[in-house]
This record gives sequence, C-alpha cells and structure tokens, in this order.
Amino acid sequence: MKCIFCEIVNRNSPAEIIFEDEKIIAFLDNKPFNFGHSLVIPKIHCEDFLSVPEDHLMNLISAVQAVSKAVLKGLNVSGFNIISNNGKTAGQSVFHFHFHIIPRFKSDKHKYRLNLKSYAPGEMKRFAESIKNFVNNQE
Ligand code: 5GP
Ligand code: ZN
Repeated sequence: MKCIFCEIVNRNSPAEIIFEDEKIIAFLDNKPFNFGHSLVIPKIHCEDFLSVPEDHLMNLISAVQAVSKAVLKGLNVSGFNIISNNGKTAGQSVFHFHFHIIPRFKSDKHKYRLNLKSYAPGEMKRFAESIKNFVNNQE
C-alpha cells in the first residue's frame, strides 16, 4: 500500500507545504483541529518515533520549533499543542511518523477529557523503577 505522506514528499499528492529542507517537510493537515494545524515529518519513510533515524531527530525537532514559531506569528495565536500519536492504540492513523502542531484559540471548543488515575502508595516508585531500568540500557 502506498504511504500518503511519502506521496506528498514525492509530489505525487498535493499538499500545502509550509517548510522543507533536505530531510524534513511540513504541510497543513487537511482535516484540521483548528485552521493552520500543521504536520512535520521526516522525508524518509519511518513508521513511528522509535524508528526515526538518529541523524534525522535534531532536524525534526528544530523544524518543529521553527514551524511552531511561524504558526504563532503567522496566525497571531499565543498557544499551541504538539502531539504525536504512536501506534494504533494511541490513535495513529498514518504510519509515517509525524508531529502535529495545533494552534489554539481561547474560543475553540477543544477539551481533553482525560480519565486521570491516582497511584496507590508505593505504586509510583514501582512504575518509575520499571522504566528507569531501561532508560540507560537501550540495546
Ligand atoms: P494521526 O491520526 O496518524 O496522528 O494523524 C494523521 C493526520 O494526517 C490526520 O490529522 C489527518 O487529517 C492527516 N492526513 C491524512 N491524510 C492526509 C492527506 O492526504 N493530506 C494531508 N494534508 N493530511 C492528511
Ligand atoms: Zn511514508
């Protein structure tokens, strides 16, 4: 199956491109949360954040910052969300890695209804330990 974002990179599918360099391209999402909702992607096809080649990560983050600044200035907004869905469980629908940059307006009606949890005593430490063990041991 063809990857729609690769098609955009290769100019086989139209998009409103707002930034491009050797490794990165950014364009407007065609079903935006708010107008100006932008996507920043590596040009190379990689499915999710974990598979972005290390030598693309710095370019990617720099582009996210540059596009965020431009969205703020260009649309005269003061807030924005950076979101990335990784994996079907997390809501990813296009499996070519991307960051969403979503301009926010005081008047927009977007509300995140999160079902926040509470740790039982001692449980937080247990979760931290489970993660910590792997942070410095990434084979
Ligand atoms: P995800 O659900 O994977 O986090 O985000 C994928 C995003 O890509 C969605 O917000 C969707 O609107 C956007 N998208 C999907 N197909 C196209 C397309 O053909 N062109 C553009 N510009 N955006 C797309
Ligand atoms: Zn792709």
